[in-house]
Amino acid sequence: MSDTICAISTSLGVGAVSMIRVSGKEAISIVSKLFNGDDLNNVDTHTIHYGFIVDNNEKIDEVLVTVMKAPKTFTREDVVEINCHGGIATTNKVLELLLLNGCRQAEPGEFTKRAFLNGRIDLMEAEAVADLINGKTEEARRVAISQMQGSGSKLISKLREDLVGLISNIEVNIDYPEYQDIYEVTVKDIKDKINYFHDSLTNIINNYENGRILTDGIKTVIVGRPNVGKSSILNKLLDYNKAIVTDIPGTTRDIVEGSISFNGILLNIIDTAGIRDTDNVVEKIGVEKSLNLIDTADLVIVVLNNNEELSDDDRKILDATKDKKRIIFVNKVDLESKLKLDLDVVKGNTIEVNGLDALKDKIRELFNLDGIEKRDLNYLSNAREISTIKEVLGIVSDIENALDNGIEVDMIEIDIKRIWELLGSLIGVSYDNELIDNIFSRFCLGK
Ligand code: GDP
Repeated sequence: MSDTICAISTSLGVGAVSMIRVSGKEAISIVSKLFNGDDLNNVDTHTIHYGFIVDNNEKIDEVLVTVMKAPKTFTREDVVEINCHGGIATTNKVLELLLLNGCRQAEPGEFTKRAFLNGRIDLMEAEAVADLINGKTEEARRVAISQMQGSGSKLISKLREDLVGLISNIEVNIDYPEYQDIYEVTVKDIKDKINYFHDSLTNIINNYENGRILTDGIKTVIVGRPNVGKSSILNKLLDYNKAIVTDIPGTTRDIVEGSISFNGILLNIIDTAGIRDTDNVVEKIGVEKSLNLIDTADLVIVVLNNNEELSDDDRKILDATKDKKRIIFVNKVDLESKLKLDLDVVKGNTIEVNGLDALKDKIRELFNLDGIEKRDLNYLSNAREISTIKEVLGIVSDIENALDNGIEVDMIEIDIKRIWELLGSLIGVSYDNELIDNIFSRFCLGK
C-alpha cells in the first residue's frame, strides 16, 4: 500500500468531463509535476485549482484539480482528482503521463480496498459501495446507501457485543472459580441468549430473501400450454414485441426474457416454451428448460385459456407449480368461458388496454410492493454475508443441542467464541487476504 495508484474513475467514452483519481503518499507531488497552475505542494487541503496538464511544455488538457490531504479523504491517503475534458484520447493521455511519472494503475476496487484497510469503512460498508454501483433499481440504491452508512454493520456489532459479556463471564467462572462474588453463568442464561441469537439470525436470513428481491428483482416465470397467450402477456407487460406472437402452437421454442421496473422493483420476466407432451426435439429441450426454471423462480405465472376446458397438460402444470409462489392467470376472458377450475385465479386478457391490471395488482399484493418504501432497510443484502450468517446459525443449533444433552458450559465456550469470530469476519475485524482480494475484484476500475 506504499505506492501511489491512479485510475480513470468515470466510464471511458465520449462525455463532457472525465475524472482521474490518484491516491497515495506521492499523489500531490506526482500531479504537481504535470500541472501548470498553482504549486499543488503548497495549497490548502480540499481546494480546487484551475490549470493545464502539460507534457514537456505541450498543453495536453485544460483541467480542474482537486487536492485532498490525508486523513480526511476516501482512502485516508492524499488524494488528487483531475477533472479533464471527456474523450478517450485526452483521458488516456493524462493517465499515461501519471503512469510515466511514478503512479501505478489501480486494480479494480483498490481505492475502496485502501479505505477499508486504512480503517475508514468496514468490510460490509465497502461491499455496499459495490452494491450501490451495481444496483439497477431505486430499491437497490436505497438498500445499498443504508448499508454504506453502516446499518448492517451495526446489526452485527450489536450481536457481537451481546456475546462478549457472555464469553467473559464464562471465562471468569472457569479461570477463577474461587471468586464467590462473581455471577456464575447458568445453563439457563446461555440457553436464553442462544435462543435470542437463533431468532435474530433467522430474522436476518428471512429479511435477506426480501432484500434479494429489492436488489435483484423478482424472477418471474410465465408457464402454460402453447397458445394460451404467454408471449402476448410478456409483450404487453414489457410494452413491446420481444417475444414472437403467432397462433401456431409451439412458437416460443426457447426462453424469452425481459425486465420492467415495477413500483421500483425489477420484475425479470421469462416467457417459457409452452409445456405439453411433444415429440419435436427442439421443442422438447425448451419444455425441459421451462420445468427447470420453475424451480428457481420467485414467482410463477401459470397461464390458462378461458376459452378451453382444462386439459391434462394444464393439470400437470398446476401440479408442478403447486408448492411455488404462483398466480394462476386465466387469459382470453374476452372469449367465451369454457374453463372450470376450483382454485383461486386472476382473470384478464391481452386485448384490452387494461387487460392485465388485475395481474399486476396481484403481483403487488403478493410481494407487498405498495408498502415497500416504508420497509426497514436494516438487513443484509449480500450473498457472502448471508452464507456466514447461515454458518453461525448452524453453530447456534449445535449449541442448543449440546445444552439439551447436558454438555457442560465450559465445553461449549469454544463454539460461542467461534460465533464471535465469524461475526467479526463479516465486518472485517479479522480477515483473510484471499477473501479481501476476491471481494474487491468485484468493483469497477477507479472505485
Ligand atoms: P403462447 O404460445 O402461450 O406464447 O401464446 P401467444 O402469446 O403466442 O398467443 C397465441 C394466440 O392467442 C395469438 O394469436 C394471440 O393473438 C392470441 N391471444 C393472446 N392473448 C389473447 C387474449 O387475451 N384474447 C384473445 N382473444 N386472444 C389472445
